[in-house]
Amino acid sequence: MFIRPFYLFGPLCLSLSSLSATAADWAYQGDHGPAHWDRFGSQLCAQGTQQSPINVELKKLRPLEGHSSDLKIDYGAAALKVVNNGHTIQANVIDKEIVTFKGTAYRLRQFHFHTPSEHQIDGLSYPLEMHLVNRDQDGRLLVIGLLAKEGKRNRELAALWEQLPDAEGKTLTLKAKDAPDLGSLVPAASHHVFYKGSLTTPPCTEGVQWVLFEQPIELSKAQIQKIRQLFPDNHRPAQPLNEREVDED
Ligand SMILES: [Zn+2]
Repeated sequence: MFIRPFYLFGPLCLSLSSLSATAADWAYQGDHGPAHWDRFGSQLCAQGTQQSPINVELKKLRPLEGHSSDLKIDYGAAALKVVNNGHTIQANVIDKEIVTFKGTAYRLRQFHFHTPSEHQIDGLSYPLEMHLVNRDQDGRLLVIGLLAKEGKRNRELAALWEQLPDAEGKTLTLKAKDAPDLGSLVPAASHHVFYKGSLTTPPCTEGVQWVLFEQPIELSKAQIQKIRQLFPDNHRPAQPLNEREVDED
């Protein structure tokens, strides 16, 4: 069901560059908010039928055909260029970090954060969601979503959190030794939810493979408060599931 790579390549390049650009005109509130995003890049935001995020209904999940080993994450600690782009804190990954899914290798390009979570589980939101955006050599995207609940202080994110760029346009470079070990950050034991969706920001490009971890990570109350002070609400509401299948391993 993948669209041909040459067709996807243009929009995805565009979307990646817009992910790393400073704030465009779109926003999360008011008359530039999610209900009006079709004015900022793509009709897909209003008319797409495979949009993200979604509300995951656990009872309706279908077991993934094949094996859970379809997903193999080979993350570690990589040097990062971190930017406050006005919409989120985004960490661009300098070294290569690899994920394979169904035999295709994807390379981690960047990760960023939403407060509160964009995906919901049985209608419930979490205080934070982290997105790890991976791309294969043909430009196809696989995004890993990690939900976060309030709990223990997250040691992997601690050094980054101490230096979060606190205004739009501010940047920060983190050496690998100070960067989160993403391999340790990702929950070792978790079910995963798989579905085909989109970018959750304009231009809302579709054809994105989503992998959502059901097991949340933990951040302390203070860590959640710190990013919430910068971004009180940078989530897109849940979108209609329409005819899509949602799988689980
Ligand atoms: Zn995101």
